[in-house]
Amino acid sequence: MNYSLCDKYGFDEIGRRRRIELFGFQAGDHDLAGLLHAQVITPHGARIIDAFYDYLVTRPETALFLDGGRKVPQLKVTHADYLDTLGIGFDTADYFENRLRAGMAHAHIGLPLSLYLAAYRLLEDLIIDHFPHEGFRESPQKLDLIRFLGRIIKLDMSLAIETYHQLQIQDLIRSVHTLADEKEELSQQVRVDSLTEVASRRHLESVLANEIAMACRRGQPLTVAMADLDHFKRVNDELGHLVGDEVLKEVGRRLEAAVRGCDIVGRYGGEEFLLVLPASSLETGRQVAERVRERIGSAPVQVDAHRIPLTVSLGVAALEDGDTPEALLERADAALYAAKLAGRDRVVAA
Ligand code: GH3
Ligand code: MG
Ligand code: MG
Repeated sequence: MNYSLCDKYGFDEIGRRRRIELFGFQAGDHDLAGLLHAQVITPHGARIIDAFYDYLVTRPETALFLDGGRKVPQLKVTHADYLDTLGIGFDTADYFENRLRAGMAHAHIGLPLSLYLAAYRLLEDLIIDHFPHEGFRESPQKLDLIRFLGRIIKLDMSLAIETYHQLQIQDLIRSVHTLADEKEELSQQVRVDSLTEVASRRHLESVLANEIAMACRRGQPLTVAMADLDHFKRVNDELGHLVGDEVLKEVGRRLEAAVRGCDIVGRYGGEEFLLVLPASSLETGRQVAERVRERIGSAPVQVDAHRIPLTVSLGVAALEDGDTPEALLERADAALYAAKLAGRDRVVAA
């Protein structure tokens, strides 16, 4: 027998002795275990087990776990083993390991603790019901035996519950980790635009609000640039939406490559991107926007056999005192509109 559960729960010799003492076992209890078997379990074990399951199948709460009685024959075998060893060598590693395993088995089938306790109660009563009649019932040994039975049943329960709880806690910990992973995955999905893998609009909005607050606090400038691809509708119309999508992905990559690490690139809408440029004046922002325009227009985008020339118009606006994110974006948008009006493929600063 391996004693992995005893090891895990600290039931070496000292641990077992502590538990035995805690439950009030006394010298002479091994003899009482022998007496319990000789007088009750050996002659009546099978009847006790029959009565035990007869009762459990009538209770709706327990019948559910007995699969309408179909599991009873197999469980009777396991339970007979349990009863045959009840209290025998109760301080040994074998006994502890065996009882700890019972808790694991019950946790695996999801047996609620209340049913567990009810079953132990029933078993204890049934054993007492099968005490021999003549003479013994009135003998002083009877009380000793009832008390021993109480101790051994409670010891068994304590060991089974030990592993039962531990397994449930492990399940909970696993669920918590899974949820945390899923949460991280979801929040990643919310932060990132699924097509282009630049920041999503939602993330951009929270980044912009934070950056504005930080710029105000530090007294630093902040500039944004709104970029809109020129005549992008034509790409879709002439080459199809899927090619258009590939172009947008490449634009995302070129934008990321054109800015500093602390700048944020995001997709604001269809073929419209926003750059948030912390610690940048309007003039710096204009230069960044110019670099972006050159990067995007420098080489046609290759998708399959198509070489697609591309230009972009940008509107740049710097944070002013008392600006809300909306006010700042509106000025960038107005500058972008001016760039379009002025002939596209250019940068206009508000
Ligand atoms: P302008 O220079 O005035 O910006 O012209 P435009 O054609 O780029 O502007 P318009 O607003 O008329 O068209 C934008 C196009 O962008 C229309 C739409 O088909 C395309 N578009 C928006 N989102 C996506 C997308 O996710 N994938 C693809 N393939 N196309 C998109
Ligand atoms: Mg547009
Ligand atoms: Mg456009």
